[in-house]
Amino acid sequence: MSREIILVTGACGQIGTALIPLLRELYGRDYVIASDLKASGEVGKLFENLDATDGAALSAIISKYGVTQIYHLAAVLSAKAEADPVWAWNLNMTSLLNILEAGRIHNLDKVFIPSSIAVFGETAPDFNTPQKTFLDPATIYGVSKVAGEKLSYYYHRKYNLDVRSLRYPGIVSYQSLPGGGTTDFAVDMYLKAVSQQNYICYLKEDTRLPMMYIKDALRASLELMEASEEKIKIRSSYNLAGFSLTPKELCDSINLYFPEFSCDFQPDFRQVIAESWPKSIDDAQARADWNWKPEFDLHSMTEDMVKYLS
Ligand code: NAD
Repeated sequence: MSREIILVTGACGQIGTALIPLLRELYGRDYVIASDLKASGEVGKLFENLDATDGAALSAIISKYGVTQIYHLAAVLSAKAEADPVWAWNLNMTSLLNILEAGRIHNLDKVFIPSSIAVFGETAPDFNTPQKTFLDPATIYGVSKVAGEKLSYYYHRKYNLDVRSLRYPGIVSYQSLPGGGTTDFAVDMYLKAVSQQNYICYLKEDTRLPMMYIKDALRASLELMEASEEKIKIRSSYNLAGFSLTPKELCDSINLYFPEFSCDFQPDFRQVIAESWPKSIDDAQARADWNWKPEFDLHSMTEDMVKYLS
């Protein structure tokens, strides 16, 4: 079997920062190319400045290294996207279409394109939101993710491109700062607690949201990508669940380690976004198709976060 050569776009963001070392461990450090608008953090020597909206530049990098797989993480997230919807649409859709086209033209083995729970809106069931339901997102980010899912499905149907995708819930990580999503409060809360400061949360204390610890999110992504092709039954994007939490429950969990830590709640525009999203997700299809199972719950996540951040 020939060697996989992996390109990661948006590699300096919240997920890429954690994913790159793991991919390099698995595939070898000379076979994983990190790329982003500019380098930051621990990207290593194998890095390319790449604007993912530039299809010609993307194509040149694929040819230069003989890339066989892409993890496409470049995107603008929910809260940031609302500030400039046209820019957000252009960035998310142009970059996505470039990746799919590159997959087709360069005959790539596989591409990974994350989606989000933001594809759901107020018409989807709030609890245990199923794999197949109404997709009426309330944000431009969600609209771009729905369109991305449809495009991925189309490229699989028409060109047999091996596109794989997960609807990530809010991701909590210690490796880097989150990039402007509605669930960023969770990481912010841990960071304040370990630096002995209190936190003002931009959501109401009882706003329940699906979340996932980074270790589970990375394992899910790699397990999906490693699964044999016949197991992948969903080519739009798989529902993926870890656990659900409210800001108050997160604060209580942090209080087990930092009893002095306190949180105030002053909702802003992100409250409306959060309320349009599901409270919990049914990921039965991912469990059945490729044996997905999360390992972390709120308390084991807090234990791990505190260990790393301290
Ligand atoms: P992030 O905002 O932390 O990082 C995105 C990266 O993309 C940044 O490093 C940024 O510099 C880069 N980028 C922006 N424009 C670019 C361009 N034109 N060309 C190349 N790079 C560009 O995002 P993340 O949290 O790492 O998310 C990665 C993917 O996962 C995205 O598709 C996002 O929608 C999805 N997702 C993330 C979460 C989460 O909680 N983090 C939840 C659901 C889905």
